[in-house]
Amino acid sequence: MTAPLRIAIVGGGITGLAAAHRLLELQPTSPSSVSLYEAGPRLGGLVGTQQIDGYTLELGPDSFITNKPWAVGLCKRLGIEDRLIPTDARYRRSLVLRRGQPVEVPEGFQLMTPAQVWPVLTSSIFSWWGKLRMGCEYFLPAKRDVQDESLGSFVRRRFGQQVLDRLVQPLVGGIYTSDPEKLSLRATLPRFLEMEQQHGSLIRASRSAAKTASANEHASGARYGLFTTLAGGTQELIQALADRVSREVQIHVNAPVTGLQPLESGGFLLTAQGQPPQTFDRVILTLPTYRVADLVQPFATEWSRALREIEYASTTIVVSGHRLADVKHPLDAFGLVIPAVEHRRILAVSFTSRKFPNRAPEGHVQLRTFVGGAMQPEYFGISDEETKQLVREELRDLLGVTGTPDFEVVARYPRSMPQYHVGHLERVKRIRELGAQFPGLGLAGSSYDGVGLPDSIHSGEAAAEQAVRS
Ligand SMILES: Cc1cc2nc3c(=O)[nH]c(=O)nc-3n(C[C@H](O)[C@H](O)[C@H](O)COP(=O)(O)OP(=O)(O)OC[C@H]3O[C@@H](n4cnc5c(N)ncnc54)[C@H](O)[C@@H]3O)c2cc1C
Repeated sequence: MTAPLRIAIVGGGITGLAAAHRLLELQPTSPSSVSLYEAGPRLGGLVGTQQIDGYTLELGPDSFITNKPWAVGLCKRLGIEDRLIPTDARYRRSLVLRRGQPVEVPEGFQLMTPAQVWPVLTSSIFSWWGKLRMGCEYFLPAKRDVQDESLGSFVRRRFGQQVLDRLVQPLVGGIYTSDPEKLSLRATLPRFLEMEQQHGSLIRASRSAAKTASANEHASGARYGLFTTLAGGTQELIQALADRVSREVQIHVNAPVTGLQPLESGGFLLTAQGQPPQTFDRVILTLPTYRVADLVQPFATEWSRALREIEYASTTIVVSGHRLADVKHPLDAFGLVIPAVEHRRILAVSFTSRKFPNRAPEGHVQLRTFVGGAMQPEYFGISDEETKQLVREELRDLLGVTGTPDFEVVARYPRSMPQYHVGHLERVKRIRELGAQFPGLGLAGSSYDGVGLPDSIHSGEAAAEQAVRS
């Protein structure tokens, strides 16, 4: 009988919890004793659901994508699959601001590619010249060299400046809160690059994909739509994970890890605030790279420098509740994205209670307004009161929201959105190469291979598997 591996997980967000859960699943064949350290007073990290006067609020992520299987898969394994709810099909469309007015994103438009011609031709988002330029994409040859390229450069090259400025920038900005001129296409949307390489044209590729997808959807019954969440909010997933792992994992909250030292005999000495130093055979770090860099700096300067090369953007979300009677716009969509060329002070508004049921009491509506990000960092620095005021003014101008809100909650996320800039894949490769000098020290989280909840879960689970294998 060998002694169980002593494994430390640093960070109690979704990644750390998914890693802990996976280690428990692997227990029978790979026995381990697991400790999890979380700096804050609660588990969940960026994930946080709150209840206020009949409203269910999401202060961080509000849903997850279903075409990446790891979040739905985890819910199934935790036995909470029956809590997953689809988006409300009645409102399944998005709006984009054009000359101060919300306009519908043409049906079938997937981030940058129109799968249908008619909705684009009739859309008021683009001028006739813009539509003509977009149509030319069908005939443009694919680029020969496969160097990484920014999203901005790619969209301009294929579809023209209008499509970039008026639609792709705000749509993609909503996901990555990034500047498209810096965002790596290869790291964020490689599927579009493949479409260009394989079909010569994205329009051609997406039209043929649309046919296959509708046949497949028909066959599989497309259970949840593209996005899903849990009936009581994303916190339900955190709660289910916490309930499961707390039985066998030693969980330390209010315990920021302040020191990490590789030992000559193998393993690591880990120091956390308020805890006696402990040795572990394996350590999984689920922190943003700048925090990992701080921890490894004393023994791996070059690795630390490479980790610091990944940049992060900061964003603020204002979640607010309103009487429907106080909103002029019908809010007949999931939300509104705002192009930078419109020169407004907010990035997007999500119509949360139109996306999912039971997010607001009858006759009321819940909105989530995004401020700051990489495109408007100056608005992250302002006070909570100024942010609320700014959001009130923008909601009034853009959606006709008046009256006193039922509530307003300001949630701040400093340096929380990893920016996958051009060269990101090479940066991550180098981080992994340098980290290979320290077998037993694993990295996971949204900074490397994907920014959403499914990718974070996947990276946590992969790090757990690697820990028991290595
Ligand atoms: C505003 C916002 C909205 C988002 N919306 C969505 C969405 O709708 N859908 C989606 O799929 N994704 C969304 N995301 C992304 C998603 O939230 C992240 O991918 C995911 O939550 C990352 O989880 P994590 O565990 O890796 O990191 P985190 O949640 O940041 O967890 C890291 C944890 O480590 C802790 N920690 C830090 N330093 C230390 C230390 N020294 N010692 C111990 N613990 C430490 C922190 O307190 C934190 O709890 C959103 C992100 C943001 C910021």
